[in-house]
Amino acid sequence: MEMPSITPRFTALGEPYCLPVPARPLPAPQLLHLNATLADELGLGPAVTGSPQFLEWMAGNQAWPGYAAHASVYAGHQFGQFVPQLGDGRALLIAELNDLQKQPREIQLKGAGPTPYSRFADGRAVLRSSIREYLGSEAMHGLGIPTTRALALVGSPQPVRRETVETAAVVCRTAPSFVRFGHFEFYYYRGEHARLAPLADWVIDTHFPEFSGREDRYIAWLSEIIGRTARLMAQWQSVGFCHGVMNTDNFSILGLTLDYGPFGFMDAFASGHICNHTDEGGRYAWERQPVIGHWNCVKLLQATLPLLAETPEAALALAQPIADQYPAIYQQAMTKRWADKLGLRDHRDGDTDLIDGYLNLLDRSHADFSRSFRNLANLRTDTDALADGIRDEIIDIAAFDAWAENYRTRLRAEQSVDSERAQRMNAVNPKYVLRNYLAQNAIAAAEAGDMSEIGNLFAVLAQPFDEQPHHAHYAAEPPADARHIEVSCSS
Ligand code: AMP
Ligand code: MG
Repeated sequence: MEMPSITPRFTALGEPYCLPVPARPLPAPQLLHLNATLADELGLGPAVTGSPQFLEWMAGNQAWPGYAAHASVYAGHQFGQFVPQLGDGRALLIAELNDLQKQPREIQLKGAGPTPYSRFADGRAVLRSSIREYLGSEAMHGLGIPTTRALALVGSPQPVRRETVETAAVVCRTAPSFVRFGHFEFYYYRGEHARLAPLADWVIDTHFPEFSGREDRYIAWLSEIIGRTARLMAQWQSVGFCHGVMNTDNFSILGLTLDYGPFGFMDAFASGHICNHTDEGGRYAWERQPVIGHWNCVKLLQATLPLLAETPEAALALAQPIADQYPAIYQQAMTKRWADKLGLRDHRDGDTDLIDGYLNLLDRSHADFSRSFRNLANLRTDTDALADGIRDEIIDIAAFDAWAENYRTRLRAEQSVDSERAQRMNAVNPKYVLRNYLAQNAIAAAEAGDMSEIGNLFAVLAQPFDEQPHHAHYAAEPPADARHIEVSCSS
């Protein structure tokens, strides 16, 4: 059996950044789903993934050959409050390798048992939340949004106590690095500033080699992360994705979507939509995500001030302009995404009003976010005959017709060709997103022993922009009794 060779990078940093922690064995593990495409990318062919050992690695029952599992420590701002110590409380790094493109990949198990950072929790994850992370991260990948990936989903009859007793599962997930903003905050707020440079240099040397060794490397690197985060927020907004727990410990140093807990793709559009039942104040509501992304970047810059200059004043003078880049980068990325979603080729005065007007219509009508944008591709510039499918979602028809007239005028002004525009729009307005009720159906079936819906959704969400006529029902709005499924931090 040929295995990709282990290449320790993060664990080469050693303590205190990470320490060896073995996974706790999981009884009677069952491979519920394998991401065969990702396995191939990692150089894990069918001979490996089909072997009995593979299941034992994915369950945490055997160590990956030639590697000892590790956990790392971090801190973070949770709902605005600083928590000095968090860490991999239930995640373990179980391998580091190069993928077939020779790019670094870390392999983690989530739910593999307690670590020194578990605080009073059990180190486990339940099947319900594991299915959500597994499908959610791959749905985001299918949409072309930077994210951690999911390699395998393992279930077990082991009971796990949450509000009720559920069963345990482990998600095996991969990323070039799982380092978070909170890793830097940990050392900064403890006053261990000498620990910042080795970690930052590791991130730069491993993941931003273009900045490696440069005198201004920290500034270049931080600017890059701030830019990636701003662009990521624009991507989230553009597909109606709500993260739910945008704490700095859930923000990736590579600008990846990370830690899928009470996330959600919006069905009915509401700009103030809160996807996480636990987030009573709506700190992480959809419309606040871009601002929170900025706030988190400021926290990262704060934690890395000692890297920038000798005195806090001098460091702040360098950090402030980096922080100030965020709004413009976000605005530019967002404007482009909204324009793409409307099928506009260039930017003109008044386009912002056009998109705001559309969002406003959707908001007032509680129209379905994904369907409303998808269907807009059917609108024609020469007649309003085909607009019906779109108008159906809107309560204020007169307001829609007035808006559509402006939209047609705008399209004609750039000589837009309907068929070409529809093609462009369908390539950015997904037909299929992981709606809560779809995830819930897969969870209910899985809890009753039927894993097939996990595979069905996985396949549909891999091609979210394709029509997939046999799967059109996966693009339906939630049935009335499934509109208000609540998801919380309990996982
Ligand atoms: P999360 O809200 O999932 O991002 O988790 C926040 C922190 O709590 C992280 O340090 C997690 O590792 C930790 N944590 C969450 N759930 C558990 C659990 N069941 N066992 C141990 N640690 C956990
Ligand atoms: Mg987390």
